Amino acid sequence: MHVDVPAKVQEIYAEVLRRNPGEQEFHQAVREVLDSLAVVLGRHGEYAEMKTIERICEPERQIIFRVPWQDDSGEVQINRGFRVEFNSALGPYKGGLRFHPSVNLGIVKFLGFEQVFKNALTGMPIGGGKGGSDFDPKGRSDAEVMRFCQSFMTELYRHIGEYTDVPAGDIGVGAREIGYLFGQYKRITNRYESGVLTGKGLGWGGALVRTEATGYGAAFFAQAMMAAAGDSFDGTRVVISGSGNVAVYGIEKVHQLGGTVVAASDSSGYVVDEKGIDLDVLKQVKEVERGRISDYADRVASASFTEGGSVWDVPCEVAMPSATQNELDGDAARVLARNGCRYVVEGANMPCTPDAVDVFREAGVAFAPGKAANAGGVATSALEMQQNASRDRWSFEHSEAKLQEIMRGIHQRCHETAEDYGSPGDLVLGANVAGFLEVAEAVHAHGLI
Ligand code: GLU
Repeated sequence: MHVDVPAKVQEIYAEVLRRNPGEQEFHQAVREVLDSLAVVLGRHGEYAEMKTIERICEPERQIIFRVPWQDDSGEVQINRGFRVEFNSALGPYKGGLRFHPSVNLGIVKFLGFEQVFKNALTGMPIGGGKGGSDFDPKGRSDAEVMRFCQSFMTELYRHIGEYTDVPAGDIGVGAREIGYLFGQYKRITNRYESGVLTGKGLGWGGALVRTEATGYGAAFFAQAMMAAAGDSFDGTRVVISGSGNVAVYGIEKVHQLGGTVVAASDSSGYVVDEKGIDLDVLKQVKEVERGRISDYADRVASASFTEGGSVWDVPCEVAMPSATQNELDGDAARVLARNGCRYVVEGANMPCTPDAVDVFREAGVAFAPGKAANAGGVATSALEMQQNASRDRWSFEHSEAKLQEIMRGIHQRCHETAEDYGSPGDLVLGANVAGFLEVAEAVHAHGLI
């Protein structure tokens, strides 16, 4: 069968637009992958014939449900819950739950789609999925968060399981929420099924390094990327956006590797601390007190707070956007490049807009997409599943060494695939093609399903 490849890819994209109207972030994530896949169809006619790409763009199952709960004042609240089970060719659906007011079906689908390729790149036996709710945990009491999680799980439990679908955390879902979700799952099913959720507490089935894994992993990926260019973190100036789980542990590892992180942010603004962000203070403010980033500047003499504005105005050699999708646009990318930034490593999922990625490409700034660079979190979730299945418990050192090895492996695969497909140094193409090939081969082997 003769296939006109660029036309074929256009046709697939047009169909995705037609059947998923208004889901901008999902369109963006699909577009970015499709742009890399023309070279694959050129070599693998069987994937065109069997419509493998088209099948991978369509989630296997999409679940939407009502989540009613009562707040502390006795008022009834109604939120919407989602779980998109995107692809199970490589293993049970795996991916986090996001609790944030911006969550809608399009956001969950973009995250689920990215997750499929990310999980494939880890080389672990996990498929891809994502879920969450438009529930806003900000300002809610522990009791409210618990009641919400219990209501959410009262529907979700019937769709998940250690061999079916294994959720974890994401924005707004950390150890506290995973605890409440696990408790309700156990209560409803009467099963102590450790492997049904990852990111569990260390005393009840959780794995060491899971909390740190996404941030540590992104720093390890950056380290591998710099090493490939004969470079290192030693003495570099780094800006990391965000101040959640990814940012905090990204900062910790960058400091251990010899770089200095001079800025961090949240949705209210950013702080600059030329001495390097003091992690004890940041953790106290963001993790313990669940406060604002301005509280950091109130406590640290060398720090200043800028309300609003763009953290990317702060000059740096390495930028690690680790807050949320589309937080770094073309204008911010131009400022970064002008200020001498040489590496951009995505700690969050799709934080750079397509314009920003184009600017980096033209300016010769090395760029690592999130689906490769932030895969350390989910990879360590797979290690947690492994420990749960064997009722084993690994040391911090052993787990961290595994994480570093996995991140080096992902970098190497992306790097080599980019070369193999004629675009040396293009880690976006390398990640998309390597991830796709892994999934496509399994999809193809399973027949028309
Ligand atoms: N939410 C994380 C991610 O974006 C982790 C998912 C997981 O551990 O399942 O990859």
